[in-house]
Amino acid sequence: MIKQIEIKVFPDKVNDQVYINSLIKNQLKDEFDQVKSIILTRKSIDSRGKRPWYLLRYDIYLVETFIKPQIISLGFKDVRDKPHIIIVGAGPAGYFAALECLESGLKPIVLDRGKDVRDRRKDLKAIQQEGIVNPDSNYCFGEGGAGTYSDGKLYTRSHKRGKIDKVLHLLVEHGAETDILTDAHPHIGSNKLPVIIAAIRTTIQKYGGEVHFNKKVTDLLLENKKLMGVRCEGSSYMGEAVVLATGHSARDIYQLLYDKNISIEAKPFALGLRIEHSQAYIDQTQYHQAEREENLPASSYSVVTQVEGKGVFSFCMCPGGLVVPAATAPGEIVVNGMSLSRRDSPFANSGLVTSIELDELEKHGYSGIFAAMNFQSDIEKSMFEAGDGSQKAPAQRVEDFVNGVVSPDLNDTSYIPGLISSPLHKVLPLFVYKRLRKGLIDINKKMRGYLTNNANIIGVESRTSAPVRIPRHPDTLCHPEVEGLYPCGEGAGYAGGIISAAMDGQNVIKAVKKWIECKKEPVCEE
Ligand SMILES: Cc1cc2nc3c(=O)[nH]c(=O)nc-3n(C[C@H](O)[C@H](O)[C@H](O)COP(=O)(O)OP(=O)(O)OC[C@H]3O[C@@H](n4cnc5c(N)ncnc54)[C@H](O)[C@@H]3O)c2cc1C
Repeated sequence: MIKQIEIKVFPDKVNDQVYINSLIKNQLKDEFDQVKSIILTRKSIDSRGKRPWYLLRYDIYLVETFIKPQIISLGFKDVRDKPHIIIVGAGPAGYFAALECLESGLKPIVLDRGKDVRDRRKDLKAIQQEGIVNPDSNYCFGEGGAGTYSDGKLYTRSHKRGKIDKVLHLLVEHGAETDILTDAHPHIGSNKLPVIIAAIRTTIQKYGGEVHFNKKVTDLLLENKKLMGVRCEGSSYMGEAVVLATGHSARDIYQLLYDKNISIEAKPFALGLRIEHSQAYIDQTQYHQAEREENLPASSYSVVTQVEGKGVFSFCMCPGGLVVPAATAPGEIVVNGMSLSRRDSPFANSGLVTSIELDELEKHGYSGIFAAMNFQSDIEKSMFEAGDGSQKAPAQRVEDFVNGVVSPDLNDTSYIPGLISSPLHKVLPLFVYKRLRKGLIDINKKMRGYLTNNANIIGVESRTSAPVRIPRHPDTLCHPEVEGLYPCGEGAGYAGGIISAAMDGQNVIKAVKKWIECKKEPVCEE
């Protein structure tokens, strides 16, 4: 029998196992003598009261003993002589699709336009310090995808889309801390993610899969609406299926599909700015303490409000983090957020974005399949033009932004390329500015002090989600027009974050396997 219990402890006692055991014993009373195993299943923080406390949930094994879950990678097979599956993109979707291939007896051949995690660092340094953007290796492109140098937040609301636990266990099997299995808001951090990603690559190769870097896919090899493979500069790769997991910033892939008459669809997305407060202020509002007490992590927040029926909301909040330049081409400015595992920078940043619908884009002169993508791109260029030709980002103090005045100077920032005081209220399209402005005023009523000149607002947070969707059949997950083409992950419009992208990669390979088995079965219905 398994009994679930919850224990509440203040932060000063959260690591005191003797004290916690005494609380468990008190709750179980006589049953305590039958306990075989005590397993922590969830750890969360409740900060609604005067002093925050931890809520620890345990599974108590009475009579029966806890059996450790099976190690997933023990089920991987050698796939050297198995059917080839071409996976374009080594982001979470692509790499977890590749791992799923190892379980499914399929040989993954992963192609990425960028470099491996280690070499990629040089290009990140060049963006940060010299303002040079390599269009194939940056914060979005390269091994591990956009998730590598990120905050590494691992929570998702997409519980119905797949097995979150499986993704988390695979991350642990490749070096992540076991805490991610129990924390209510798990995160890994940019200093640890590259090691985990490199370990995933080693697993793929160990079982006979292939991973190739500096392989930008530039063409799809079609024969009578069946996809036979892909072409990169200088080489071609053929396979039974092609999983297209190129992320939301691969504009050339959307263009390629369009040029080849493969249907894609315009899609609403979210756009706004990144707001940076001091972490001390966020801690004060979330924990109600003048100074964060020991054993509490840098606090996070999530805010949402409605302005004229459209959402204005925080996105990808990074406690104790850094604002980073996430442009994928020269001549544009894009910002995003990341953090190290300790989340110990003195800054707290978050996207503050609003939904951009296709009908309003039409009213502002953007129509057709690339309406959202062109709008996104035009704003990123305007942000660059507002700067000095480097990756310095246009910024304003928050109250100045709301009041529509240029800030005479700016607050300190974590953004390494530096900020330039700019009239963001004019650089943004008026309808976006008005909505963010009203959103900030509303949010400030819920979170006092949020709208302050002690915080900066930085442009532009434009890569929140894909501006284009690549359609696929809801059951077979294959593109409705092209046999063998499997749109996957965030770039195709089926994920939003590391975990949901990884789950989509797994789901797509399950569908590919079913299809390959079906082809062998003459009576198969699909
Ligand atoms: C700075 C930053 C911080 C983030 N923080 C978080 C976070 O904390 N938590 C979270 O859940 N999400 C976060 N995200 C979002 C998350 O990273 C993405 O949702 C996720 O990575 C999407 O996974 P994907 O595999 O679908 O695509 P991507 O990760 O975008 O991977 C796509 C891959 O395809 C490759 N590619 C593109 N075009 C081609 C081509 N033509 N040929 C070959 N390869 C190609 C790219 O090089 C890239 O490696 C963050 C994103 C950024 C940029």
